[in-house]
Amino acid sequence: MQSFHSDSNTKQNSHGSNMQTRDWPHQDNCIVCNGPLETGLHLCLLCPLAKSVWTQVLTWEHFDVQLIQHDVDPSKINSWWEEAAQKVPKDQRRRFNGMVIYVLWNLWKERNR
Ligand SMILES: [Zn+2]
Repeated sequence: MQSFHSDSNTKQNSHGSNMQTRDWPHQDNCIVCNGPLETGLHLCLLCPLAKSVWTQVLTWEHFDVQLIQHDVDPSKINSWWEEAAQKVPKDQRRRFNGMVIYVLWNLWKERNR
């Protein structure tokens, strides 16, 4: 999922949207909730749909649902991910990271339906 990686060569616009900067197909509003400009971060973490999916999956997997909260507003999904993974006990981290990949991939698939 290229769009989730930081890319130092990519200048971000004021909305922080790599999709827009890269001229990838995107919507001006989130196609799921009709919220603000569609960004990877919105789709994966901030969208009400994403939040509800995260809450359910974290609960099923016996992780703390507070993990979707963030201390500082993350500008990129990877900053949130790194911050969240630090809060997970080391022996659970591999399972946590696998779950994150699974959730992100499914949110992305849902957006593209
Ligand atoms: Zn949304």
